[in-house]
Amino acid sequence: MIEIDGSLGEGGGQIIRSALSLSALTGKAFRIVNVRKNRRKPGLRAQHLSAARAVKEISNADIEGGKIDSKELRFTPRTYKAGNYRFDIGTAGATPLVLQALLPPLIFGRGDSHMTLSGGTHVPISPPFHFIREIFLPTLGQLGISVSASILSYGFYPRGGGLIEAHVRPVGKNGIRSITFAEGKADGVARGVSGVANLPISIAERQKDAALNVLSQRGGGAEIELASVPSPGQGTFIFLKSENGPCRGGFSSIGVRGKRAETVGSEAAQALLDYWGTQGCMDPHLADQIVIYLALAEGKSSFTTTHVTMHLITNLSVIKMFLDIDYTVSGEIGAPGKITIQGAGFSR
Ligand code: ATP
Repeated sequence: MIEIDGSLGEGGGQIIRSALSLSALTGKAFRIVNVRKNRRKPGLRAQHLSAARAVKEISNADIEGGKIDSKELRFTPRTYKAGNYRFDIGTAGATPLVLQALLPPLIFGRGDSHMTLSGGTHVPISPPFHFIREIFLPTLGQLGISVSASILSYGFYPRGGGLIEAHVRPVGKNGIRSITFAEGKADGVARGVSGVANLPISIAERQKDAALNVLSQRGGGAEIELASVPSPGQGTFIFLKSENGPCRGGFSSIGVRGKRAETVGSEAAQALLDYWGTQGCMDPHLADQIVIYLALAEGKSSFTTTHVTMHLITNLSVIKMFLDIDYTVSGEIGAPGKITIQGAGFSR
């Protein structure tokens, strides 16, 4: 039984999701205590519980302590199975995060998998669906992992009710490819979308104009589409992406009641400018999300990122509890850095 202290480093939900993914994949049981100790409301929230239940279902696991607010969880997996799955988070909990928890075992499944997930699709402090489709999955594609995703309905806080689908093809017998992501990100022009659900399109226009305004002050620009998207609730978002080969960055902001459309637009643009203005290839969010796959790959991978984060450092520590990997992180938290990982060469 692997013992995990959930207050480690970042002390948030990613520790649980990475442990679930790798437990299902390796067959190693784990117990986590101090779940999300560093968060304002510690313990399991709906999104983490949904991830635990979803990974339980695909790996026929036993769970103890799987309740809202639980500070401790035990997870004992059996065999994971590819297949057709449907998971309902039941709130505006982030479907992209539950999807991410399921992918590592499913990409090593014995056949294709198809998933439908309902809940939030564009909620704060999580990757919005656009980040998954435009940034995360294309990067997995470069590692030889084929996952496609589509959105049928958008889910915003508090109503939720979003619906996404994902199709996973298992990696071949050679497993995941290691990669070296060099320097050289695109600079100056981004693409994006500014969207509203059940609100006037003028809000999306204001978000877009504010983003363009911020970008143009630094000589940058973007092609930003306007979208009125289907959702059972109301919401707004903006997503901007910069892409140059493997150097991808995706920057978003979500509207909340009382937050001006101009603030939503300029937040995403500022984050993009920060990325452009900083040395390094990979978006910091992508960096913390991709290391689990590099740890499973055969051989040595390396990449640079604009900001080393506590999420990244913490995730690497959790991954090492399950897989025989060596890694180095050069660079301080908050500053550009380089990560090298000697992968475990996982194959089923
Ligand atoms: P909590 O922080 O409440 O524990 P959590 O389960 O979301 O919740 P975290 O450990 O914070 O757990 O992990 C959040 C994940 O979402 C990380 O992988 C982080 O990089 C990612 N993320 C957060 N915001 C964004 C964003 N704007 N774009 C892309 N990814 C994001």
